[in-house]
Amino acid sequence: MDFLPIFLNIRGRPCLVVGGGEVAARKVALLQQAGARVMVVAPGLEHSLAQSLAQGEIAHRQGRFDPGDLDRCRLVIAATDDPEVNAGVAAQAEERRIPVNVVDQPELCSFVMPSIIDRSPIVAAVSSGGVAPVLARLIRARLETLIPASYGRLAMLAGEFRRKVKETFRHPPDRRKFWERVLQGPIAEMVFAGQEKAAREALEATLSSETGTPAPMGEVYLVGGGPGDPDLLTFRALRLMQQADVVVYDRLVAKAVLELTRRDAERVYVGKERDNHAMPQEEINRLLARLAKQGKRVVRLKGGDPFIFGRGGEEIDTLAEEGVPFQVVPGITAASGSATYAGIPLTHRDYAQSCDFVTGHLKDGTVNLNWNMLAQPQQTVVFYMGLKGLGTICRELVAHGVSPAMPAALVQQATTYRQRVFTGTLETLPRIVDAARPKPPTLIIVGEVVRLHEKLAWFEPAEALAAAREAEGQA
Ligand code: SAH
Repeated sequence: MDFLPIFLNIRGRPCLVVGGGEVAARKVALLQQAGARVMVVAPGLEHSLAQSLAQGEIAHRQGRFDPGDLDRCRLVIAATDDPEVNAGVAAQAEERRIPVNVVDQPELCSFVMPSIIDRSPIVAAVSSGGVAPVLARLIRARLETLIPASYGRLAMLAGEFRRKVKETFRHPPDRRKFWERVLQGPIAEMVFAGQEKAAREALEATLSSETGTPAPMGEVYLVGGGPGDPDLLTFRALRLMQQADVVVYDRLVAKAVLELTRRDAERVYVGKERDNHAMPQEEINRLLARLAKQGKRVVRLKGGDPFIFGRGGEEIDTLAEEGVPFQVVPGITAASGSATYAGIPLTHRDYAQSCDFVTGHLKDGTVNLNWNMLAQPQQTVVFYMGLKGLGTICRELVAHGVSPAMPAALVQQATTYRQRVFTGTLETLPRIVDAARPKPPTLIIVGEVVRLHEKLAWFEPAEALAAAREAEGQA
């Protein structure tokens, strides 16, 4: 190693920053986060530093660097744009054995600043020793995605219980095993999901149980898998998908998303095609509870968002009744995925001040919707499950006063490489769609905002273009 990584306690200690520009301001902020008493030496201060000074958060000596500035100081950072001044600071600090960092000049540094992942009290630091700072930042970005934002809270909880655990487990190896089980099991997940009270109780219960082994507690993660593109998953969704012992999924979940679940996890397909339910909802609800009670971590993976036309509410209703722990992870709903990937903003200052999500699923061939409400101007209406009823939808809207020239779009397999967007009006869209034979799932967007598609479309996968061209050739 070229540098020894250490974490320095500078709380309440005087630290010096030479320079009053933006770079200096960033370094000052960092030192302040670690509780240092910061003195800035510079002829002038940029805006945010001047503000900090006015609020009494830092001290300032106006002028150029003077070796006397180093008196009593524990650490110094040179951040001026004058190489001579920087070199002078480095030489003086070296002589007095004060740790010194010169921004962007590793050869003058006795210490370098790492890229930081801050989950205080957990802090991870990545350094390239000043050789390739961008690379260090890229690694940092990857670590950021791996370490849940609430890792710090988990550390705090562990800290709270540290003494008690020490008293319960006298042997260090037993203690280590205990913590390993707790910190990567359901108790940790409860903390990440903001269920801190439950986590504390479970930890108490585990400690006072005879074996000190967490009760084999299963749980259910109701996870929104988004509209198709696996890049649209949340960090939490991905983490839970990679932990779960069992994956319960239905037809709407994209293959690329399903593939991100743990390789050795058991996969249960519960189907659900239009009018052809592979497993009745009631049975799915019971299945989830049963699996969790066997001590399994179950991820119930749904397309889009679980709380939007996903019957997610019913599934956790059963879990709540049976006392099975669960959490819900939101996903990007089809309306949002379709709209963004088709370049159709759902609201717009000029065209739409509100947006409705409605189901176009027809029971007995009729649509039970409040057409008067949906026919109001200045709004966007998004129909889920509306392909079969497209003709009825367009007709009813016109019958309730919407202009036949109102723009409308149908988006097929949004966010995937097979996405296609068909646009027309309430009058023309049914015919256009009929001829194009789109593949499910599809979503219908009605409103003036559809006009923007022509200009704002940005996602144009090659496969969809090829399909469109082929269709044109046939027409
Ligand atoms: N919970 C889901 C919706 C389930 S209802 C969500 O939040 O997205 C199923 C309907 O969602 C389909 O009939 C279709 O209208 C819509 N849908 C889901 N994924 C879609 C996609 N990739 N492209 C277009 N529509 C989609």
